[in-house]
Amino acid sequence: MNKYYATTPIYYVNDVPHIGHTYTTIAADVITRFYKQIGYDARLLTGADEHGAKIEEAAKKHNLKPQQYVDQISSEFKQIWDKLNINYSRFIRTTDEDHIKIVQGFLQKMYENDAIDQNPRLYKGLYCVGHEKFMSPEELTDGVCSEHKTKPIEYAEENYYFKLSKFQDQLETLISSDEINVRPIARKNEVLGKIKQGLEDISISRASLEWGIPLPFDNKHTVYVWIDALINYYTYGKEKGIWPADLHLVGKDILWFHSIIWPAMLLSINEETPKQVFAHGFFTINGQKMSKTIGNVIKPEELITKYGVDGTRYVLLSAFPFGEDGDFSWEYLDRSFNADLANGLGNLIARIAKLAEKVNFKVTETTEIFDPLVSQKLKELKFSEALTFIWQDIAALDKKINEVQPWKLETAELTEFLSESSIKIRSIALSLKPFLPETAEKILTQFSGEVKSGPSLFPRIR
Ligand SMILES: [Zn+2]
Repeated sequence: MNKYYATTPIYYVNDVPHIGHTYTTIAADVITRFYKQIGYDARLLTGADEHGAKIEEAAKKHNLKPQQYVDQISSEFKQIWDKLNINYSRFIRTTDEDHIKIVQGFLQKMYENDAIDQNPRLYKGLYCVGHEKFMSPEELTDGVCSEHKTKPIEYAEENYYFKLSKFQDQLETLISSDEINVRPIARKNEVLGKIKQGLEDISISRASLEWGIPLPFDNKHTVYVWIDALINYYTYGKEKGIWPADLHLVGKDILWFHSIIWPAMLLSINEETPKQVFAHGFFTINGQKMSKTIGNVIKPEELITKYGVDGTRYVLLSAFPFGEDGDFSWEYLDRSFNADLANGLGNLIARIAKLAEKVNFKVTETTEIFDPLVSQKLKELKFSEALTFIWQDIAALDKKINEVQPWKLETAELTEFLSESSIKIRSIALSLKPFLPETAEKILTQFSGEVKSGPSLFPRIR
């Protein structure tokens, strides 16, 4: 059996789930469901990133130990993914015992293979806790983090270094040959351009931070949170015998970690690199950057309340080409829901079911072939284009009803019309299944055996 192993980033446990996390995770779920449907052993990994200075600080504020604190909040993401029908194979936490062991084994190997310096180097830099990273001068405005508006911590301590520079040529070859398939293509070119400027060794441990995984070869240090987090993909993949990952789905802000640092770490222990790293774009809400200060953050619960689970999955993925930046507004999402789901799909199913019920029509032919055009688009992660294909079929069938006017037909002719239509409907439902799992299941059930009309699939939003 072929396998397909996809991952979302693991989300920072003290972040509040928002439309950005939701978008990535739904996309990863759709692609995994698709591969499952066409017969692969497909797995999806998602989870929570629970170490680092930010969490240590937040726990202190709540008068809790970091472990108690993350135990309290780590289910928040999990609950929202369950609500959104995300069919993850495991929800990994970086505080899970097996992960900690794998991280330590991984770093020990890096150390033994001379990919990590034998001794720490003195590091001086400016650390932004909000970013959980060292800031370059360009990322600061008047000495303050441009994004978090906080002053970074002046920081001088001994750190262990990963010799990233050793892997420069190897990475350039792997990425330019698409052996590590970095997409979209513009992102690949960006990454290649940056490699050519030269890779510098990076700090991978902290001596002053307790809330992290101890380095196996020097337990006065903890593993830098980003390094610990990246290894989560390997923890699950290795345990299940499905490494390398077929797809790391990430936001473009963390592409560098996933396309450079992570593959280099794997190369350093002679492991296979991921097959594809795909970075999707960012979005704005009504043309504005999403921010707590502006108060325009869209939470997944709000979307589910308004559009339902399948409706949310649809309006997000159909909105703009995957990989590009895009803009959302409630008006846009409402329009898309009403036009495509309530009027388009919902109406079509209702019309045909009604006609079928009138003459006690029975579906006898049930094909299970996935539309090759939709399949091709999904393999390229072109979600919105795949949906466009499906909606062309919906529109074509709608048009046919208007032309044929089946309500005027004699029973024999009507039955023939219904046979053809129900084959098409089942095929549409099969293509929709990775996107709208519950709705597709409802349609497939409705159009097997005797067809009955049912309640409206997507009541209009006013
Ligand atoms: Zn910052």
